[in-house]
Amino acid sequence: MRLSQMLFVTLREDPAEAEIPSHKLLLRAGYTRRIASGVYAYLPLLLRVLNKISDIVRDEMNATGAQECLLPQLQPAELWRESGRWETYTKAEGIMFSLIDRRQQEMGLGPTHEEVITAVARDMVRSYRQLPLHLYQIQTKFRDEIRPRFGLMRGREFIMKDGYSFHTDEGSLKDTYQEMYTAYSNILRRCGLEFRAVDADSGAIGGSGSTEFMVLAEAGEDEVLYTEDGKYAANVEKAVSLPGEAVPSSFTTFEKLETPNTPTIDSLAKFLQCSPTQIVKNVLYQAVYDSGKVVLVLVSLRGDQDVNEVKLTNELTKLAADYGGTAVLSLGVPDEAAQRQWATKPLPLGYMAPDLGDDYIQGGPIQGGQELEPAFLRLVDATVTDLKHFVTGSNEAGHHTVGGNWGQEFTLPKTVVDVRKAAAGDRALHNPSQTLQTARGIEIGHIFQLGTKYSEKLGATYTSETGAELPLVMGCYGVGVSRLAQAAVEQSHDKNGIVWPVAIAPYQVIVVIPNMGDDLQVEAAKAIYKALLALGVDALLDDRDERAGVKFKDADLIGIPYRIVTGRALGDGKVEVVERSTGIVQEVALTEVVALVKGWIDDELLASR
Ligand code: ATP
Ligand code: MG
Repeated sequence: MRLSQMLFVTLREDPAEAEIPSHKLLLRAGYTRRIASGVYAYLPLLLRVLNKISDIVRDEMNATGAQECLLPQLQPAELWRESGRWETYTKAEGIMFSLIDRRQQEMGLGPTHEEVITAVARDMVRSYRQLPLHLYQIQTKFRDEIRPRFGLMRGREFIMKDGYSFHTDEGSLKDTYQEMYTAYSNILRRCGLEFRAVDADSGAIGGSGSTEFMVLAEAGEDEVLYTEDGKYAANVEKAVSLPGEAVPSSFTTFEKLETPNTPTIDSLAKFLQCSPTQIVKNVLYQAVYDSGKVVLVLVSLRGDQDVNEVKLTNELTKLAADYGGTAVLSLGVPDEAAQRQWATKPLPLGYMAPDLGDDYIQGGPIQGGQELEPAFLRLVDATVTDLKHFVTGSNEAGHHTVGGNWGQEFTLPKTVVDVRKAAAGDRALHNPSQTLQTARGIEIGHIFQLGTKYSEKLGATYTSETGAELPLVMGCYGVGVSRLAQAAVEQSHDKNGIVWPVAIAPYQVIVVIPNMGDDLQVEAAKAIYKALLALGVDALLDDRDERAGVKFKDADLIGIPYRIVTGRALGDGKVEVVERSTGIVQEVALTEVVALVKGWIDDELLASR
């Protein structure tokens, strides 16, 4: 491609709309433009990157025997009602765009494709002889994200590879899951990314085991906890660990003490000169179920610990049937406005005890056709069940109790859960001498063992060898193709611009003519450019009427791995070659440069395989 003929616009200044380096660089280097919140144009340079990533993804997927297909983005609500996800995905904080067509039918734009693919399998898979089966697609997804940001990192329209596998049993699913683990590792390695595979939460998609593939970068929205020995790595949402030992309580008798201005654990521990590990802290949440039931949840956990809201949501989901529902629509700490809807009197916030009375709640119908449960759901985290003579609230502002015990002054709630947040510095379960370290990560891929959740709901069954009619066992596997492109920039750039890994660079070589008025330079550059193309190298020719300095700056900014310059050395039969990643400049004979650079590219591509 000749740069003079391309839509090529670079910006000197950082655009105000971008916060992180990769987003700034993709805008400045002309790869993308924002069209609406979370909606971006993929311009020619970016499309080449996306296509290269997609090719690598296809290559690795096809190698496992998976087959490519393309499913509809426009999906009928009734399929999503069958799986029970229509309400959760389109209401409250749901992320599905929905619409009503001219026939008054409700439709949604696909945020993911479990329902559609399961409907296809229900129709087409009859016998165990057709299994296992794995279909994938590379396609635009739509998600009305609450906080679209960082450009392609979290868009409302983005490109994903999603794949779905079908099996007769868990064993076969695990085999494919393992193959996908390898395929995903290969994809990320071939794209030139440094990454870590981590244990992950399965979230609203459901199912059991799941692994996320994280690209480590400061701008990552996820926190990863890992151990130095390389044996444990997990998303903080899912991470488990041993909490530090509790310090034995210094209080021996139960009494209520005046503790003025101690609404926080820190202030209380300081006032009582006790360890936060002796304190039972009580945190109030408000959960909304898909049945319309609103439940106030009182979680008791150790003072030095925090609630992991993902784990809490999972526990509440397990209890959904008690409230006539199947899923949690939202979970949050009730603010003053929320409290006014149901509190019969001001809550002793900061001084609540595990036995906070249900008479604080005015149960019954509330705004929005919802119904408030008249009693607290009391959950107790495993960190406090063994505490003796603990400190906790008294349900009266400015006062706490000390020396309390379960089974004496306080009733131990019957539902014991693990909802504490693992944190850096905790001891690892597999080896308590290892402590958890923390890093930021960008989630690029996620593989799940779904099990029979969707096949049971949609009635997708097969006939087994013995003639039994059984639900299909499923797995699903996603890679964010457009997010990956930006993550690569986030991980690989310098003060001058993008530094693309060779495998996904839009062009591998840029041939720069410093002086368009010099026929010798122009002819030499054109010859090199043509020879590169003939060898199958993705080459760009900068034949614009611009100053040499501008051309060099632009070449650095757009991040092309190798730059060949037909400059002054031409007189000696030489050209200059610059490697973008190292900045190393070499003079190479005109007659050798094409073969040399082609050799470097081949070596790079081979090394990442
Ligand atoms: P996140 O936690 O970042 O929202 P997710 O758990 O919703 O991701 P999945 O549903 O597993 O993501 O989708 C598979 C992949 O699609 C993700 O690993 C990510 O790379 C990509 N992805 C998800 N949401 C977005 C988005 N809004 N913009 C760009 N890529 C996305
Ligand atoms: Mg998401």
